[in-house]
Amino acid sequence: MSKDSFQIGDSAIVEREHFGSLFRVLADRGYEIVGPTVREGAIAYERVSSTNDLPRGWTDEQEGGKYRLKRREDEALFGYAVGPHSWKKFYYPSVERLYKVKLNSDGFRIIPEPKDSKKYALIGVRACELRAISIQDKVFTGGQYVDPVYKMRRSNLFIVAVNCGVAGGTCFCASMGTGPKASAGYDLALTEMLADGRHCFFVEVGSDSGADVLDEIPSRRAARDDRLAADRILNETSQKMGRTMDASGLKELLYRNYEHPQWDNVATRCLTCANCTMVCPTCFCTTVEDVTDLTGEHAERWRKWDSCFAMDFSYIHGGSVRATTKSRYRQWMTHKLATWIDQFGESGCVGCGRCITWCPVGIDITEEVRAIRESHLAAGGTP
Ligand code: SF4
Ligand code: SF4
Repeated sequence: MSKDSFQIGDSAIVEREHFGSLFRVLADRGYEIVGPTVREGAIAYERVSSTNDLPRGWTDEQEGGKYRLKRREDEALFGYAVGPHSWKKFYYPSVERLYKVKLNSDGFRIIPEPKDSKKYALIGVRACELRAISIQDKVFTGGQYVDPVYKMRRSNLFIVAVNCGVAGGTCFCASMGTGPKASAGYDLALTEMLADGRHCFFVEVGSDSGADVLDEIPSRRAARDDRLAADRILNETSQKMGRTMDASGLKELLYRNYEHPQWDNVATRCLTCANCTMVCPTCFCTTVEDVTDLTGEHAERWRKWDSCFAMDFSYIHGGSVRATTKSRYRQWMTHKLATWIDQFGESGCVGCGRCITWCPVGIDITEEVRAIRESHLAAGGTP
């Protein structure tokens, strides 16, 4: 190791014209690079091969039930908030085969899936999304039963976080303590800086692998003024956040209000379409389906994302436990904001705002919480 090598905690400035080297260095190390790109009028996370694939000069407008891309006046590469995709599709795919079964003269044989050794580099992971990844780590690897496939895919990730220079119209990560600055869980974290005709990235090193990659990219050590400039960008983003949610005592508030009339109110609007669960970066529910061929000699078991908004999701002998829209919305919101804390020690909501933007009728989790809290307090309830 040369004495000039970067270490965890170091920071550097990479000029825009050298930023493309990141792609080359990661590709040389065998990573398949995925990142934000414009697809069908939205920012999608897909395979990218150079900075040309990034959403240069695009930003987004988001509100309850509304999303549109529009042009920025500059050439920012990460000048948008989060879109409908989350990163989990790369390490926890929406559909995957678990194993095959073959019938032969001795009985049947289970054929496990080959190990997935693909290495992904994720470019552009936001602070709220990093927290969502750490929450899913807890779900899949933190307990008694570890998901080995998830664990392997997860250990192969290289994460380039991007601190948010733009607050989305439906974001409330500042309220949830998850953003807009990435605090842990990344290999490299970038803050994009565009001012006075300059375009560069303030880069922080979060791991030894991140330090090795940064060593190969032309850069200079960051100065105190660079850090202050990056901090200013993040402070402004916090101030401009589109939504807030009062998270104090939220678990207790919801536990005391299982019969609140707001659940009936939201049920008159909710379509039980499941969009909110499909876009949520922390949702992890799945179903398992078995399929056979016509000979009966070959069968496969598949795992697919599922949603607590589906009637069948709570089906047990005799019918579905949550047969009404009211019971399904209440289950989803109280799980995210209350029972999740009992299960995993923290909230299941990271404040990304996707469920608000992509709800076709614009149901807003922050407004539902506000309505319950205000009437609870007005009725003399415990704050
Ligand atoms: S809250 Fe909105 S997105 Fe979620 S199930 Fe209901 S209508 Fe669909
Ligand atoms: S519940 Fe909504 S705001 Fe919270 S993490 Fe999920 S999609 Fe984002």
